[in-house]
Amino acid sequence: MKQVSQIYINGEFVEPHGTEVMTLVNPVTEQPATEVRLADEIDTQRAIAAAKAAYVTFSKTSKAQRIQYLQQLHDAVKARSEQLIAVMIEEYGGTYAMASGTVNRSAQSFLQAQELLRTYPFVRKEGRATVVMEPLGVVGLITPWNASYGFICNKMATAMAAGSTVVIKPSELSAAQTQLLTECLHDAGLPPGIFNIVTGRGDVVGAEITRHPDIAKISFTGSTLVGKTIARGAVDTMKRVTLELGGKSPNVILEDADLEKAIPLALIVGTFNNGQACLAGTRLIVPESRLDEVKAIIKRAAEQVVVGDPVDPKVQIGPLVTAKQYQRVEDYIRLGIAEGAELVCGGEGRPAGLDKGYFVKPTVFSGVTSQMTIAKEEIFGPVISILTYRSVEEAIEIANDTVYGLHAYVSSADTEKARAVASQIVAGRIFINGIYDEPAAPFGGFKQSGLGREFGSYGLDAYLEPKAVIADND
Ligand code: NAD
Repeated sequence: MKQVSQIYINGEFVEPHGTEVMTLVNPVTEQPATEVRLADEIDTQRAIAAAKAAYVTFSKTSKAQRIQYLQQLHDAVKARSEQLIAVMIEEYGGTYAMASGTVNRSAQSFLQAQELLRTYPFVRKEGRATVVMEPLGVVGLITPWNASYGFICNKMATAMAAGSTVVIKPSELSAAQTQLLTECLHDAGLPPGIFNIVTGRGDVVGAEITRHPDIAKISFTGSTLVGKTIARGAVDTMKRVTLELGGKSPNVILEDADLEKAIPLALIVGTFNNGQACLAGTRLIVPESRLDEVKAIIKRAAEQVVVGDPVDPKVQIGPLVTAKQYQRVEDYIRLGIAEGAELVCGGEGRPAGLDKGYFVKPTVFSGVTSQMTIAKEEIFGPVISILTYRSVEEAIEIANDTVYGLHAYVSSADTEKARAVASQIVAGRIFINGIYDEPAAPFGGFKQSGLGREFGSYGLDAYLEPKAVIADND
């Protein structure tokens, strides 16, 4: 079994003060895989103190210096890409495509932050005033398990571009991935204290970050429930917060769409990352007149999806991350049936041929209404609900009938028609007729999907505070 027994404070791997040990289980074999010793409040305070001390110098570094540090971080992550991919596949159960995409984006995020440093207007003139965008102080970064490296690297790269030092609290379920990523970041050879990494429980380490007066801002990615707890706690010290939370994203198929393209795509966007994706398009909203065609195509496509051990590169859907997550998704599938939805394909239990591991069949329900729990709540597994509409107005109404507003998808033979629909959907990001990667575009949610944006200049804005100076000779 792997042992993860150190955390990273002030440029060193150190033994935590915390003594609790947690055992992580391999999602394919269900066998114990890693023992991780968890940090506690004292460790968190030490990490915050190290980041605070480093901030004094780091916040005054030149753009050129930060660009150099970001290059070193990029090179160090890139150098061990294959190892990072292998550990992510093993610990988390991500497919090769997902894991390699995450690792590549993680390394790239340092280069994107460099680009921001080169192009972002840190000093502006507003009337007589000179406005300087200044760093906030020490930033707490709290991240989930479903693409661990990506969240850590993007958040720390942006915070560092702004001139902030950071305390990172990764998910306790990603301990082996965190260990390896920390080794890479350490190899970059930056001065101590700029980034500190403390793996521990959310209600221990995360709560300390939330309440500590020396943390100026929190950037959190995770569930809406925990995001609300952090926002409530952060207000006491008036911390800035960026919250990237859950979703229940609509995928609107317009009447004229080529279903042979749009529906296989809908299956992919509904089951991204083994179904564990905040931006998954899990509400498939289709014209009533084309329901039978949609059902036939999605059933055919779902039955061709290869589910299994992600060490096999042919596998398209791996296991869910934990037994708890598996039970939760199975419960939703049972609930969908109990609520009267029609099972088009998939259903309870593991796919044929898999007798262990947290594998769920790609599952599609039809006859779903917006009132059903499976249409309202984020399931976080490969489960898609089909809802039908009779007019475009009704399709938009269904799309917006959710507390979330993270992402949306629209398919049509006429891109301009799809744009018109997109303009009426309440969501932070909308993809028309495809899946795209645009790291300069803002990412984040309307409504209960969050607060603020990440990526590109919008992401950097969130780590800066404007200071206006007006002088007698302005
Ligand atoms: P989670 O909210 O349970 O945990 C996220 C992080 O918060 C973990 O590090 C956890 O330890 C920590 N945490 C837990 N309780 C805390 C507390 N009281 N105070 C401070 N920190 C605490 O989420 P998860 O299960 O790890 O991830 C899945 C969720 O993340 C889903 O809801 C998904 O939609 C969301 N997510 C959102 C995005 C996005 O960009 N919007 C991206 C990925 C995942």
